[in-house]
This record gives sequence, structure tokens and C-alpha cells, in this order.
Amino acid sequence: MRPRNEYAEPYRIKMVESIHLPEESRREEAIREAGLNLFNLDSSDVYVDLLTDSGTGAMSQEQWSAMMRGDEAYAGSRSFERLASVVRRTTGYDHLVVTHQGRGAEHLLMRSLVSEGDRIPGNMHFDTTQGHILLAGAEPVNLVIEEGRRAESDHPFKGNIDLEALEAELAAHGDRIPFVLMTITCNNNGGQPVSAENIRGAAAVASRRGIPLFFDAARFAENAYFIREREEGYGDRSPAEIAREILSLGDGCTMSAKKDGIANIGGFLALRDDELYRKAVEWQIPFEGFTTYGGLAGRDLEAVATGLGEVLEPTYLEDRLGGTRYLADLLLDEGIPIVTPPGGHGVFIDASAFLPGIPRDQFPGQALAVELYRRGGVRGVELGTAAFGRTDPDTGETIYPDMELVRLAIPRRTYTDRHLAHVARTVARVWANRDGIRGLKMTYEAPVLRHFTARYEWV
Ligand SMILES: *Cc1c(COP(=O)(O)O)cnc(C)c1O
Repeated sequence: MRPRNEYAEPYRIKMVESIHLPEESRREEAIREAGLNLFNLDSSDVYVDLLTDSGTGAMSQEQWSAMMRGDEAYAGSRSFERLASVVRRTTGYDHLVVTHQGRGAEHLLMRSLVSEGDRIPGNMHFDTTQGHILLAGAEPVNLVIEEGRRAESDHPFKGNIDLEALEAELAAHGDRIPFVLMTITCNNNGGQPVSAENIRGAAAVASRRGIPLFFDAARFAENAYFIREREEGYGDRSPAEIAREILSLGDGCTMSAKKDGIANIGGFLALRDDELYRKAVEWQIPFEGFTTYGGLAGRDLEAVATGLGEVLEPTYLEDRLGGTRYLADLLLDEGIPIVTPPGGHGVFIDASAFLPGIPRDQFPGQALAVELYRRGGVRGVELGTAAFGRTDPDTGETIYPDMELVRLAIPRRTYTDRHLAHVARTVARVWANRDGIRGLKMTYEAPVLRHFTARYEWV
């Protein structure tokens, strides 16, 4: 095993929560009752929960104490004012539209700008974003660079958009494109960063045609730290300066504060344009709530305001990205196929390479995720055909995503190296016994975002 990255951990533990590994017989019973869908498991049946890094992180004593100062006024809450000023300072965007979480912000953006038949190009849309684009009657267009579609690569910015493809898309369909959306970091291909140079390029391509550029900024701080580590000319800049610079190239962002807000709930839309802000508020009030709370309690606004400061601290980001790299190194040492280089918020196992005998219509990623739970009580999530496959409305055939992945997302400030070592041992055990793993068939699926509620059986 390689040594842990050589830096001092920037926290000590002040409060603990007991967890335990259920007996094997209980795990077998639980996964069957769950219809082989890990979303249906009770968290008490899970030992190390890497389902998501969304809202699952540990808050700091500063966040908890700020929550005690939350102003629960319906209108004119000072907690809203505090968050608005932090968002203005962090993003450079003047207007804050608070939402209950990131998808609420996506909904308001689509309602405000998207019409049926539109196309939304981006590097690679996240699943809720794709869901909202489809619900608006529009077409999601993913233009990530070729290296970003391959599991193995040494490209430092696998979240980059293909600028030539973007140019061609805008030339062909410019009148049907309300905006370009860059997801930073790019969740779906492994939490991969986008370079500042690529963002400048996308902004230039879009602005030549008068098309706005928005960010899905869920992991903007992780993206900023990758730029500092990997991009020429940024090594001496603070993550806060880098974040501000890249966001300055766009017109606004959607944000899931459950990610780089290090809060348990919350989100927002931040906007530069006054007119668009007025439009978004018209949708915010009926769907999310009045402007100064937007579906959140005053205390939640305080948690996000404090979290947005902490997430940009270099020691936090060094520990965050170092933890992900640590788990990735443990798996690479065992020869396990993962997406390389690892991204920011988790390690993504290449399920096609792990289980080459299982065809894509038998959900190799889901089959692998089920085994990780059965062997070690570890809960990851499939991000492959179950999550992103779609049925072509014209031909009835399945449109497959680029990769079959299982994501082991790492909650912020929550698990230690020993938890991650248990995860690595579990994956290694499944790897050693991979020949006996069977594929799955889906026995129930919802029309949109099916992987959350699907049920499966072994074939
Ligand atoms: C989580 C996430 C969202 C949606 O945010 P929620 O807070 O879960 O609604 C959107 N985009 C990306 C990239 C995400 O990771």
C-alpha cells in the first residue's frame, strides 16, 4: 500500500455517530427486500455509505453555531442577507435566488429560459439536469472531449468541452440554444475538472453568437483546486481567486449547496442579469418560496453561508482531494479498473472492464454495486445504463451512455482512512470473485430518473 499523502489532517473529531457492519445474512435479506436497488436500503443496513457526497458531509462547529443565529423571518431575513453577500463575493454574481437544493435551481433556470424544442449543449449534464432539460421538452447535448469519454487517460482536465463540437453545435442550432451549461467539476465522468483555458474558450465561442454561458457549480471549489494543481499559471493563486475568475466568464450558476456548500440541504441560482433575475423570481415564489428563504430555513442559509467559506480553504481542499486519491491508489494497487486520473468527489470503478462478461443491457454497474454491498456493506451507486440509458422514442432502442461506472462518492469530512481501507478491501474481495457475478434485469422503471426507484432481479 502506498503511504497516505503527506500532510496533516486539518480536523479532529468532536462528535461521533455509531455505525456497524450487518451480518452477512442480514445484508442478503436487505438487498433482496430492496429489489437489488441500493437506494431502497435503510442506512442502518449500510456500513460505509458512499452512495453520494450530496448533503452527507460533516458540518463544522462554525456552521453549527451559525445555525443557532439563523433568522427565521419570512421576509427580509438577515440570514438571507448574509448568504447573498457571501454568494456575491464568492461568485461575482449580483442576484441570489435561493432554492431547496440544486435541482430547484435547475428547474427555475429551465422555466425562465428554455422552450420546447430547444437544445442545451454542455460538457456533460448531470442526471437531474438532464431530467429537467427533458421535462422542459428540450434536448440535452453532451460535448465532453473524447478523453472524457474514456475510463483511462492521463488528461488532466477530462471534464473539458470539445470546443470545435460546441462551435459546430452553435452554428447548426444557434437559434434553438438558450444557453451553454458547463458542469464543474463534471460529475458523470468521474468528478473530472474543467480547465480555466477551456472555460475561457467556451465563453468566447458562446459570446460570439450572443449565447449566455451558465455553470452547474456544484463542485466549483474542487474544480478550482484542480486548476491550481494542474494548470500552468495558477499554482500561486488561492482557490477563492480561481473560482471567482472562472465564474466571471459566465452569466450565472446553479448550485447544489449539498456539495461544495458543505451543508445538508440547500441550493441556489446566482445570476448576473437583472431581467433574468426578475423572471426567475416569478417561478421561485410559487415553486420554492419567497425570495428571502426559497424553501430553506434561516438556519440552513447560515450553514451554506459558512460552508461556502470553508470549502475554499486550501487545507480543506488538499484533504478532500487527497482522500479521494488515497482510495484510488489503494484500488489501483490491486489492479482494479477505475477512472483515471481520479476526480474530486469519489472514485469511479469501470464496471465494463470489471465485469466484461455482463452485457450492457444486463446492467453491469448495478450488478457490481450490489456485490459491493453483499460483500462488505459498502453502498455505492451505478452511473451507467440504469442511470443514463434512455429509450429512443423513434426506434424503441436503448441509447447507451459512454461508460458503465460505479461511483464510490466520498462524503465531506466524514470517513477516515480506515473506512476507506475497508472499502478497498471489499472491492478487492469482489474483484477476486468476479467470475461468479450475474447480470440483472430491470423489473420496474419510472419514466424519468428511473435509477432512483427501479427494481431488479438476477438473470
Ligand atoms: C447534485 C448535483 C445536482 C443536483 O443537486 P441537488 O442538490 O441534488 O438537487 C446538479 N448537478 C450536479 C453536478 C450535481 O452533482
